[in-house]
Amino acid sequence: MFERADEMRPVGAIIGVAANAARGLERIGLGDIVEQACIPVQRLDYLNWRGRRLTHMPIQEVARELGTRTFIALRADVQLGMYEALPDGVVRLGSEFVGFEQDDAGVTARFADGREERAAVLIGADGIQSAARQQLLGDEPRYSGYSGWRGVAPMDPQPLEPGLAKQVLGRGKTFGAFGLTKGRVYWWASARMDSGLGDSPAGRKNDVRESFRGAPELVQTIVDATPEDAILRNDIYDRPPVERWGEGRVTLIGDAGHAATPNTGEGGSQALLDGVVLAESLAGSPLEDRAAVDAALRTFEAEAIPRTADVVNRAKEIGTFIHLQNPAAALMRDLVFYRATPQRIWRKRAAVYLEAAR
Ligand SMILES: Cc1cc2nc3c(=O)[nH]c(=O)nc-3n(C[C@H](O)[C@H](O)[C@H](O)COP(=O)(O)OP(=O)(O)OC[C@H]3O[C@@H](n4cnc5c(N)ncnc54)[C@H](O)[C@@H]3O)c2cc1C
Repeated sequence: MFERADEMRPVGAIIGVAANAARGLERIGLGDIVEQACIPVQRLDYLNWRGRRLTHMPIQEVARELGTRTFIALRADVQLGMYEALPDGVVRLGSEFVGFEQDDAGVTARFADGREERAAVLIGADGIQSAARQQLLGDEPRYSGYSGWRGVAPMDPQPLEPGLAKQVLGRGKTFGAFGLTKGRVYWWASARMDSGLGDSPAGRKNDVRESFRGAPELVQTIVDATPEDAILRNDIYDRPPVERWGEGRVTLIGDAGHAATPNTGEGGSQALLDGVVLAESLAGSPLEDRAAVDAALRTFEAEAIPRTADVVNRAKEIGTFIHLQNPAAALMRDLVFYRATPQRIWRKRAAVYLEAAR
């Protein structure tokens, strides 16, 4: 396993761990991560820009009825748990992959420092700007039209109990927060703007405060409690679905194959699931046999591409809707889609989300 970073650093971000991803972790003997790092999602409350509660998505209640579950976790807890479970030396840090060549007998991966490594299979798990994808497909990520910040705030008292989320809807912007354990709150915020603007000289914290001036007080309180250096900033891109992720002995997993905008919080879960499905598809294939490896990778893609295309498309649609900028359209969204929709429809929406990841 080759990783560009020189060390494993915790990143202050969360990932969703849906039932299928949690089961995947359990199947590969990492059930401890689910038990210790994953927080059951309770409910998502939607608020308008004045802080008035419009409705809620009763996730835990519906999950119980369906006999399923869904979690969030700090990405660092899951990642470090997985890293520690690997034998020493499996992850080779400081290795920037730049390209590959394959032949009947195997694949040669090339690295920025001139090294080459030979293996039977190459799995490009190198994120949204994947070098493996660049060589395979040569396409570019698609800008969503909005840029985002996220952070983790230590808070006492804790304004949101663990697993409870609130999301404020504005015009062309949204702010959400999830209660975590140990007095921490994870938050995310996004606002329509051009890509590439970067941080203002006043700094990220100030930029979020300015962007969310006039939002309910909870927003400013959470942002104020976040250390400046714990705020991440990303222009939000996705990867439009494609029909193939590889050829021969090469494929992609995670954001390299199917980066989605973060509006449904499913990217992490889908990436975890890819890893498990791919391992199961490859298990038992004679790795020296190119045709057998090719068949196993294409079987993996036949399951993973449609599964993740749904997530990418749904996240894009929800993102467009949540970031409506026109005042009349945003008001209609709040009143009709959120406030006037009966709870039974919200229960159905929760069930669709939970069933898709069962
Ligand atoms: C603003 C934002 C908010 C998000 N919110 C959520 C959320 O709430 N819930 C959720 O589930 N998901 C969320 N996601 C998505 C989630 O972070 C990703 O789906 C997930 O991290 C994908 O994992 P990955 O391993 O495929 O890619 P990454 O996490 O990007 O990891 C790729 C790894 O490859 C390494 N790498 C990159 N290039 C090279 C190279 N050339 N050579 C070697 N190594 C390389 C990188 O250093 C990195 O370690 C969010 C994403 C963003 C941008």
